Amino acid sequence: MSTLKVLGYAANALGQRLEPFEYASPELKEHEVRVSITHCGVCHTDIHAIDDYYGITTFPFVPGHEIVGHVAAVGPAVTSLKEGDRVGIGWQGRSCGKCEWCLKGETQLCMEIENTTVMVPYGGFSSSVVADHRFVYPLSPTMPSQIAAVLMCAGVSVYSALRTYVTSPALKVAIAGVGGLGHLAIQFAHALGCEVTAISSSLAKKAQALGFGADHFIDSNDRDGMRQVVFSYDLLVCTANDGINWEALLGILKKRGRLVLVGFPDIKLNSTNLVAHECSITGSLLGNPPMMREMLSFAQQHGITPMVELMPMSQVNEALQKVKQNKARYRIVLVNEMADSEV
Ligand SMILES: [Zn+2]
Ligand SMILES: [Zn+2]
Repeated sequence: MSTLKVLGYAANALGQRLEPFEYASPELKEHEVRVSITHCGVCHTDIHAIDDYYGITTFPFVPGHEIVGHVAAVGPAVTSLKEGDRVGIGWQGRSCGKCEWCLKGETQLCMEIENTTVMVPYGGFSSSVVADHRFVYPLSPTMPSQIAAVLMCAGVSVYSALRTYVTSPALKVAIAGVGGLGHLAIQFAHALGCEVTAISSSLAKKAQALGFGADHFIDSNDRDGMRQVVFSYDLLVCTANDGINWEALLGILKKRGRLVLVGFPDIKLNSTNLVAHECSITGSLLGNPPMMREMLSFAQQHGITPMVELMPMSQVNEALQKVKQNKARYRIVLVNEMADSEV
């Protein structure tokens, strides 16, 4: 019997460059599909995972979880997808189906989270990937693959945070960080009808932030500008990963305002705002499958367009370096030219 050989790029140890890697594709379980990858976005969490920031990485590790491709094979129980369908897959590729959170439909919070990523056993910087069909999303034929790729993780992460906490379009919303996540958060918040303020430490991003739909822009290094908006915002979505002045950010929230993290920054702060003004900080992780489907259709309807730079997958290390140095404008999507082969 022949086996299917998958080609990809793996880190062989913590923090290392990716090297060409091959493995035998796992046999399809009954609810699984195999997807031949055409595009895979590069996300900051790929770098975090190579560095084992989350403490769940096993090596060799093939990153990549903003996947677009075509269904190459389906397991016997799969009826919703067929060979040739163009699909997207995000961070989550499976779930246990039995825990409290899966039973509530909040599969992104599955108790077996370390086994749920599409990067188990190996991710999307490769020729193909296997995932449970419930986390494989058909794409509209008019949505370009590089746009869909970015929406699969960055898109759903910011959309889910906004949809959960924007309880009325009258809320005053601020987005901290105008990067890969932030430029999408501005577009989604604007399309949800909110008055949006973009906050960035880079004044050079002002014109683009306004172009993405922000109504106002504040340079976070401008102390007077930040002081003028103290107690102004109901909701602040923080998409930045570093260089954050936490006290200044919490200071611009209204009393009982909420700061939602969608990146993974380290936090160090004085608790005064949390206690004296009853502000809260929470995180928001990805979204469940209905949220993913809603996000894809909302993005299509409102013309949400991530700015994407395409690079060949063979330049994966250069792409990761650009993301690490915050030089991507605004997301990088790798175009794959490798194919599985029968051996
Ligand atoms: Zn991601
Ligand atoms: Zn579960």
